Amino acid sequence: MSATTTALEFPLTASSATVASARRAEILESPGFGRYFTDHMARAVWTSGEGWHDAGVVPYGPLQLDPAAAVLHYAQEIFEGLKAYRHDDGSVWSFRPEANAARFARSAQRLALPELPQEAFLASIAALVRADEAWVPSGGESSLYLRPFMVATESFLGVRPAREVTYLAIASPAGSYFPGGLKPVSIWLSENYTRAALGGTGSAKCGGNYAASLSAQDEASAHGCDQVCFLDSTERRWVEELGGMNLFFVHDDGSILTPELTGTILEGITRSSILQLAADRGHQVTERRVSVDEWREGVASGRITEVFACGTAAVVTPVGRLVSSDGELVHGTGEPGEVTTSIRSALLDLQYGRAEDPHGWMTRLV
Ligand SMILES: *Cc1c(COP(=O)(O)O)cnc(C)c1O
Repeated sequence: MSATTTALEFPLTASSATVASARRAEILESPGFGRYFTDHMARAVWTSGEGWHDAGVVPYGPLQLDPAAAVLHYAQEIFEGLKAYRHDDGSVWSFRPEANAARFARSAQRLALPELPQEAFLASIAALVRADEAWVPSGGESSLYLRPFMVATESFLGVRPAREVTYLAIASPAGSYFPGGLKPVSIWLSENYTRAALGGTGSAKCGGNYAASLSAQDEASAHGCDQVCFLDSTERRWVEELGGMNLFFVHDDGSILTPELTGTILEGITRSSILQLAADRGHQVTERRVSVDEWREGVASGRITEVFACGTAAVVTPVGRLVSSDGELVHGTGEPGEVTTSIRSALLDLQYGRAEDPHGWMTRLV
């Protein structure tokens, strides 16, 4: 295997078919989430012989994929999710992108994909956002959602790590997750399905985990719930996380608790940022196993006063109800709790440049 190129650069090949600015403005008025894509995408190719090469920012468009491409059969794929935020002065920033780059490398290891050098990951994001800066919305909680991913493109049906892989990053303008104001979500406790097992891929960000969560999400919808909460696969007792968000519990004394990382929970960057921010703000923070009984008893006794979920897309989402085959648990008054709201605002203030950045989490892109 040849050495990986040390400095992978992403030169721009400008699209000759960009979306007209009037149409783009119309989309940016009400982008929703994940529905519209910008004019370009970042791309790089890896082969076992040449390492990473052919990097660039190129016109957005469909891929030519051989029907035997390994990803279509064995799901050798990983992804990331982060946002570009427009500040009031017009500049554009990302939040802890080096943490996404590091997690992408860890996911690659678990899925037997080549590691993209972290500087290349960061360079691809910066080059894409610079090319499509006009797509970064401004105002409210809008952002440009960035989706880097890596897929096994080698056409070969034998089962082994692919020797040809493509890295891509696409971008999609996103509006406020809660256009009508912050609204608590309801959660279905899955007793039939688990998301991840010890030794599996739960701590890697890979499409396969999401594919496996969809039936459980369907079950949640059938019970009138917005999201599904998974328990550990061994004892079916310990609270893990939602399909794509981590969970936090707030106690009556202001202390904050989140399930510890056991190898089956995805380490959210929002999760780790909240642990730090909450500590900065004087909350006692704990990471340990949390049983569903502790959750039920805590709500019944008043020890648990708020529950919230967190992730890049929705930032911080209050959890209003937990529904299971045993019945229903209601948190608080149905309104977002005080601690949830204030942690949410603190994080958003930082991301949108309205607050100081003591940990150096923001990186300027444009
Ligand atoms: C991406 C993801 C999260 C949230 O991670 P962030 O870095 O905070 O966006 C939580 N759980 C799962 C399963 C995820 O895939």
